[in-house]
Amino acid sequence: MPRPIPVPDELSKPFWDACNERRLVVQNCTACNRMQYPPEKTCLGCGSGKSLAWREVSGRGRVDDYVVVHDSRLRLWQAEQPYNVALIALEEDPGVLFLSNLPGIPVDQVPVGASVQADFEEVTPGQLLLEWRVVSQPQRPAQRKR
Ligand SMILES: [Zn+2]
Repeated sequence: MPRPIPVPDELSKPFWDACNERRLVVQNCTACNRMQYPPEKTCLGCGSGKSLAWREVSGRGRVDDYVVVHDSRLRLWQAEQPYNVALIALEEDPGVLFLSNLPGIPVDQVPVGASVQADFEEVTPGQLLLEWRVVSQPQRPAQRKR
């Protein structure tokens, strides 16, 4: 899959800087002890704009669900159709979700429930991009939630 090149702004720069160090960080609100991603100016839990700090997390997660995209609006990806878009739930807080194409997983064969690990790949010199890799299959075949 071709990768969009991230354009870090003031809000997202700490995230991208951490990616370059192969670390996964998410925002953590110290007022209500809640994690969130993608980064926001305020906590979506309590509304605080002064209590958000960056917190390093394990980079472990689980495949929560997925879709197969057949009609992408993104011209960059239309040549790759169909492709997987998996929803990754973070181990520390399954409410924190990431999207991934899960490189190496055949279309429509995403192992829901499988463990994944954050990985980082270079998209442009000097910038690594977050990616997710399946590290172990679910214990028993998981049913797709539909
Ligand atoms: Zn909060």
